[in-house]
Amino acid sequence: MKAAIFDAPEQIHIGEWDAPRAKAGEVVVRVKATGICAGDMYIYRGSNPYARYPVIGGHEIAGHVHEVGEGVTGLSAGELVVVEPFIGCGKCYACRAGKPNCCDHLRIIGIHHPGGFAEYVAGPAQNIHKVPAGLSASWASFAEPVAIGVQATRRGDVHEGDTVLILGAGPIGLALIEVAQAKGASVYVTDIAPERLAFAETLGATALLSDDTLLPKVLEITNGEGMPCVIEAAGNAKAMESTVELVANGGRVVIVGLLKKGQAIQIPGLDLTRKEMTIHGSRASATCFPEALALLASGRIHYPEVATEWSMWDAPAVFAEMNAAPAKHHKGVLVI
Ligand SMILES: [Zn+2]
Ligand SMILES: [Zn+2]
Repeated sequence: MKAAIFDAPEQIHIGEWDAPRAKAGEVVVRVKATGICAGDMYIYRGSNPYARYPVIGGHEIAGHVHEVGEGVTGLSAGELVVVEPFIGCGKCYACRAGKPNCCDHLRIIGIHHPGGFAEYVAGPAQNIHKVPAGLSASWASFAEPVAIGVQATRRGDVHEGDTVLILGAGPIGLALIEVAQAKGASVYVTDIAPERLAFAETLGATALLSDDTLLPKVLEITNGEGMPCVIEAAGNAKAMESTVELVANGGRVVIVGLLKKGQAIQIPGLDLTRKEMTIHGSRASATCFPEALALLASGRIHYPEVATEWSMWDAPAVFAEMNAAPAKHHKGVLVI
């Protein structure tokens, strides 16, 4: 089959790769659209510690069922589906507790297994989700980033009438804004970049510039209480540390952003009890794809409108451009 293959850092070519066959319990999908995620850019740049070259990236995958393996029921050839990329071991504590997203032996389609920048991709049947009627393949490929928003808002118990502050207006921050709003929350967003904030405002969030005035502004907005829910999606140590002062007493903090391995943060220990805050980590997603697809189909998520679509087979030029000018495109999707 034809595939976009990462050969080494900043080297990608369109070439031949053995097409997958559906083993027992597996489904092979003929790819229509695969989103380009920050994780793919890390593989391109050589900074994804799990990628072993040559590798086919792409984990935000939508396409049509091509072949079902032995024992697979409820899916038939031609149906539009998305592929959930995370595969837990099924045995460890996290998997037994229903949290395969934080399995210690997590395997990801598009990193550990060949991904969606190719004509075909294989995955376990339980990772294949039917796309609701009326949703295109390109839009359905957003199920994965939207699912990250669903997971984080579930972790933070975001609900109708809630007030949420999101730190960081990058791609995940934008998905969080829309999912939190869809759940009926008022959303504030903060970032150091005015142009990212201006875009976040077009999605309906209230923008607050992240500078020394952020805490006083938050206290003013909330009558001195602080935010009921603060979600960190900036991947920045200072932003993470600020969550405990921005959150209200009895409030919830959710950490979605990633720091470098081993990097510590400092928070005042007394505040943990004094404020009785709840701090949740949130990693990727578990059981969130059906809700993400339903949200996309409901028309309440607008973020896919900003994506730029390219042909899959232009991937070498597309990755070079997205690497050279990361701010130029909000999001890229490769289509066949
Ligand atoms: Zn992604
Ligand atoms: Zn496991």
